[in-house]
Amino acid sequence: MGILYVVATPIGNLEDITLRALRILKEVDLIAAEDTRHTKKLLSHYAVSTPLTSYFEHNEKEKAPLLVGKLKEGSDIALVSDAGTPGISDPGYRLVRLAIENSIPVVPVPGPSALISVLSASGLPLNEFTFKGFVPSGASRKKVFLEMKGEEHTYVFYESPNRLKETLDDILEVLGDIDIIIAREMTKMHEEILRGRAGVIAGLLKDREIKGEIVIVLRTVKEERGDFRTELKGFLDAGLKLNDAVKAVSQEFGLPKSEVYKEALRIKDAVKK
Ligand code: SAM
Repeated sequence: MGILYVVATPIGNLEDITLRALRILKEVDLIAAEDTRHTKKLLSHYAVSTPLTSYFEHNEKEKAPLLVGKLKEGSDIALVSDAGTPGISDPGYRLVRLAIENSIPVVPVPGPSALISVLSASGLPLNEFTFKGFVPSGASRKKVFLEMKGEEHTYVFYESPNRLKETLDDILEVLGDIDIIIAREMTKMHEEILRGRAGVIAGLLKDREIKGEIVIVLRTVKEERGDFRTELKGFLDAGLKLNDAVKAVSQEFGLPKSEVYKEALRIKDAVKK
C-alpha cells in the first residue's frame, strides 16, 4: 500500500515551500497536479523530475479511482493544486476521501494557504473565524452577507478581481460600514493589503482597475436588536427575496418563520396599495 501525501505549494512566491514538501515531491512515484503545466514551473525551479499526472475539477471523478488503484499497488502519490493547500476551494477532497475509504494512509504536508496568510497579518483575534470560500455570484451573495448580520465575528472569502467592487457595494448595503481587509496578490511582487472601513476601501478602489488574486476578510459587528419589522422592511426594500429576508430575520430574532412571513406579506401588501 502506498501513501497519499497532500502537499501545500506556494500561493505566489516560489520560496514559500517547505523542505519536507520538496523532499516528498522528489521521493514520490507520481505527482497528481491540478494543472501539470503550472506545477512543472515549480518542479523545474527546484529540479524535481517526478512524473506528473493531471487531477482537476472535471476529471476528479474518473481520476480518483485510477489514482487509488496505483496507491493500492504500492505507489506513493503527492497531490498538489495550482496554489496553496489542495482541497481548499480546489480539487482534492474526492481523492482524499476515496483513499481513506480504501484504508490508504493520507499524510498532510502543510504549507501556505491564502486564507491563513491574510488572517495571520490581519490584526484580528484569530481564535475563531469562518471561511466561506468564493463569494457567490448573483442574488445569493446578499443572502450570504445577510446571514452574517448581528454578531461580532470574522469571515474570510475568496473573490475574483472583476467582481470586487460590486461585492464591496453589497457588503456596505447589507452589513454597513464594517471593518474589512482586502488582500491582493499576497507573496507576489504587487502584494497589497488594505485595512479599514468598507466605505473608505470602496472609495479607494472606485477608480482603479482591479487585477490579481483577492481575499476579503470581514469583521461583522454585534448589533442591538431593534424591531424585527423595521429590519424586515429594510431587507425587502433593499430588494431581497421574500423567503431570504424571512429566513434571515427569523434567525436573527429567534422568531418562528410563520410569524415573520405573515409580517413580510403585510409589508408587501402595504407597498402595493
Ligand atoms: N487552495 C488555495 C489556498 O489554499 O489558498 C486556494 C485556491 S482558490 C482556487 C484561488 C483563490 O485563492 C483566488 O481566487 C484568491 O481568492 C485566493 N488566492 C490564492 N492565491 C492568492 C494570493 N497570492 N493573494 C490573494 N489571494 C489569493
